[in-house]
Amino acid sequence: KEVEVANENLIRDLMKRIAPLMKEDIARALKQFGTSGGVEYCEHIGNLPIKNWYQGNFKEGAKRISGQAMANTILTNRYHCGRCVINCGRVVKAVDGPYKGIEIGGPEYETIALLGSNCLINDLSVVVKANELCNRYGLDTISTGGVIGFAMEAYERGLITKKDTGGIKPTWGNSSALIEMIHCIAQRKGLGELLGNGVRQAADIVGGAAHEFAIHVKGLEPPAHDPRARFSIALGYATSNRG
Ligand code: SF4
Repeated sequence: KEVEVANENLIRDLMKRIAPLMKEDIARALKQFGTSGGVEYCEHIGNLPIKNWYQGNFKEGAKRISGQAMANTILTNRYHCGRCVINCGRVVKAVDGPYKGIEIGGPEYETIALLGSNCLINDLSVVVKANELCNRYGLDTISTGGVIGFAMEAYERGLITKKDTGGIKPTWGNSSALIEMIHCIAQRKGLGELLGNGVRQAADIVGGAAHEFAIHVKGLEPPAHDPRARFSIALGYATSNRG
């Protein structure tokens, strides 16, 4: 249904004034690099989750999985919602490695942060493959990356072993383990039984010190914004009714 405009002249005037602003700073950066253009900046200010929210620095890794790296390597097209002039949507195609040829809507900032830096993955094509799998399975990339980061830390601390993982070795930065865990979570098999209900329930089952590094807010894995970098977001997490 067409939306009736009460004052057409006024809206045209506003559009003329707003359009040039879309060419400035943040809007221009969004067009050029998408939401993932913020990866390096977020690493710099301590906002990016790294190594299950434990590590404060991932400079070189962040550079490799940033929107800028994406634009220089695998970006093939852009898209936009409705009539938005910004075009922040990405289309990418992996050009080498085991995932060569995969073409999907490019990973957003949150996806790169949780499936990338949070698991110490520094290969953009691996993030693209993980993103593609999550899309196909209907998994949320934030919760999936959050719970996989949790599993990697539990494995490092010896709270889960190869016996629990069904042979998967969930070490930091292990791309094939990341991909296997996504299959397991979606199909609820092996390690996926433990991880499929999210971080809080996995920590309940793992026990021991697991709750000390189970990063969730009211049972929900947080988005890729560390409240230690932006205190105001802590208030948002604390007061939101679903985490
Ligand atoms: S409306 Fe769509 S294309 Fe435009 S900035 Fe927002 S998400 Fe990006």
